[in-house]
Amino acid sequence: MRISTLSLLTAAIGISIASTAQAAKPDAPYLSNSEFQQCLDGLKNSSKFRGVDSFTFNNYRPNEPDPSVIQSLNYQPEFQKDVWDYLSALVDKERVEDGIRAKRQWGDTLRQIESRYGVKPEHVLGVWGVESNFGQTLGKKPLFESLATLSCFDRRQSYFQGEFANALKIVQRGDIAPSDMTGSWAGAFGQTQFMPSTFLELAVDFDGDGRRDLVNSVPDALASTANFLDNRGYRSGEPWGYEVKLPDGYWAASDRKNKKSISHWRNQGLTLANGGSLPYDLNSAGLLLPAGIDGPAFLVGKNFDTFYSYNASENYALAIAHLSDLITREDSSKTDFVTAWPTNDPGISRQQAKDIQQALLDAGYDIGGVDGIIGDNTRTAIQQYQTSRGIFPADGRAGQNFYRTIVGSTAPSRTQYTNQYGQPAGARPLTPAPADRMGQLIQRQTTIAPSAPSYSSPAPANTVRYRRVVGGDGVTRLVRID
Ligand code: CA
Repeated sequence: MRISTLSLLTAAIGISIASTAQAAKPDAPYLSNSEFQQCLDGLKNSSKFRGVDSFTFNNYRPNEPDPSVIQSLNYQPEFQKDVWDYLSALVDKERVEDGIRAKRQWGDTLRQIESRYGVKPEHVLGVWGVESNFGQTLGKKPLFESLATLSCFDRRQSYFQGEFANALKIVQRGDIAPSDMTGSWAGAFGQTQFMPSTFLELAVDFDGDGRRDLVNSVPDALASTANFLDNRGYRSGEPWGYEVKLPDGYWAASDRKNKKSISHWRNQGLTLANGGSLPYDLNSAGLLLPAGIDGPAFLVGKNFDTFYSYNASENYALAIAHLSDLITREDSSKTDFVTAWPTNDPGISRQQAKDIQQALLDAGYDIGGVDGIIGDNTRTAIQQYQTSRGIFPADGRAGQNFYRTIVGSTAPSRTQYTNQYGQPAGARPLTPAPADRMGQLIQRQTTIAPSAPSYSSPAPANTVRYRRVVGGDGVTRLVRID
């Protein structure tokens, strides 16, 4: 639910591969300010805003709407993002090192939080790192302007009216300074990237100053995250799960929700990824195959599901899980799983993304600046670069191959990728990852404009596409479209 996650992910939005590609983002609409002000007058007296005093309402009602949030609301990401691209940006050496530092700095606080909520420190750190880059990326959109605009225009007005009222209640109570009320376009804010309703339900004051300040207080933010996970059914003392190895010839579909006992999985012949016996430390576990049968495989328990509930995407939950493991091990030297992803062109880290951007700038491509986020501008430039040099496919994707092409041969080489059968990765046809059920559910609840991206070739079976939605629980998510 954080802006940085969204930027990161939506940033990878692909331009369509065909030359007729259109930018997926619509133009910002014209919004009548008189209509907006009339709407706000009506809201002020509506039942949803009971509990918001008129001083607060009048003080923070925006002078004009912000059309860019309507633009974001209707953004149909046409991008394709492989799970390995997603994970490599969210769990890179830099983020693991930041996490290890954070664990040392906040160790005492994390232990106190663990004793109160029963949540393992590294699990809290995993969420913090993925949600807000350990408090470094909170989002800059003024919340009242965003939520008031979304309350008066386009779809989902009723939902956003509730969030606008809740945001006003938060400043009215004095939890957060009005100037700190900035966040994602959809209203998620603070180091935990809670929506205002989630804040009112689950934020806690852990540093004891009487305010639940998820923007400036790390103890409040970390404890609120633990409280959220606890509220969603976290099981103290359990791992989230672990990477496993499937027996030769095994076939199964990814189905995290179909939980079985560890004895069941042992009888099926599954082992830990290193070949060791499965430990009996999960009450029950489901099999997660993010890239099908040939990629890394995982058994995941209830605690994985609590990560999932933070942002309904299995890949997102896996990023939290994997980051938390690496922080536990305090080892940033290797961020891959034991089993390689089924590709010969793995994803890149944020530092590598910056290197690519710098190389594009040096080559004369106007991509704005270097931010480590592969957005539309960067992808367009990559595609142009590929086209001009006859690189096929000219897909605009920034992977390890393109990194080596443009940054040079000094790039760390990750030449040979093999799957668990010892074959070159990608040698076998991939099993498409099954639909993410919650994602589908949310998807059905939202309006999806028909989109018809043109591709010069069929999308590969292992391609996963996302769109951004706000769920019924108020959380902004990237959901997978299958
Ligand atoms: Ca506090």
